[in-house]
Amino acid sequence: MKLIKSTAVLFTLLSMAACSSSEDTTTEENEVPEVGTDVPAVYSKIYGASSITSDGTYITIKTSGTPEYKSVYYPTTNALYEDFSGTTYGGYTFRKNPNTISSFEFTFKIPLNPVVATNHRATSLGAIGVSLNGVPFFNQYAGPNEQPLTDEFQSFDKYWGHPTANGMFHYHIEPLYLTTVKADKSALLGFLLDGFPVYGPEENGADVTGLDMYHGHSHATADYPDGIYHYHVTNSAPYINGNGFYGTPGTVSQ
Ligand SMILES: [Zn+2]
Ligand SMILES: [Zn+2]
Repeated sequence: MKLIKSTAVLFTLLSMAACSSSEDTTTEENEVPEVGTDVPAVYSKIYGASSITSDGTYITIKTSGTPEYKSVYYPTTNALYEDFSGTTYGGYTFRKNPNTISSFEFTFKIPLNPVVATNHRATSLGAIGVSLNGVPFFNQYAGPNEQPLTDEFQSFDKYWGHPTANGMFHYHIEPLYLTTVKADKSALLGFLLDGFPVYGPEENGADVTGLDMYHGHSHATADYPDGIYHYHVTNSAPYINGNGFYGTPGTVSQ
């Protein structure tokens, strides 16, 4: 029995390997996520998730954290690798960092009914939220002690993402693929760990203004006709989140 079982596992592994080397992985990434029946419709916009479920208190979102589009940061052997040169965010001449994209097993647990926190917890380094394609959002710092992103700008790929040394691809700023290819500048882009949604840099055709210290404000949106607090990405610091989470954050593991 044991032998049969391990043969089956081996076969599965082999077919997976064959699949990823012979097929364009975009097909895999574009598969519709498994969405629980009790999950509010807005979460199915997270098209990069493999599954989205609810326990009535938290929404659990599983993603690999890898972008579905071509990037200079995929290993050159990957079908999604594409060379890139020229300028990137801020007019910097692109300089590739030495890292390549790896796949993770992210589990984001975010409150189903986000509420404002009494004490606004600071964001930490690493994933602070999830964007619609499953790639994590990071905060406005490049490292400990609030080190600014300045030296990182030049390493953002053509859609303004880059990987960490262990291959974790992420966005510190506007996820340009979502705001220019997949949707537009005023679209829903994802959620921070406190469950509040993140929107693009524009509203009614103009750059959004008047955000609070957490980088958001409250009003009705297409996804939340009754109104909700939401963050907006902007083109200057702090980009996604200001001085900590507006609500009480859930958890993320990878
Ligand atoms: Zn970074
Ligand atoms: Zn708004």
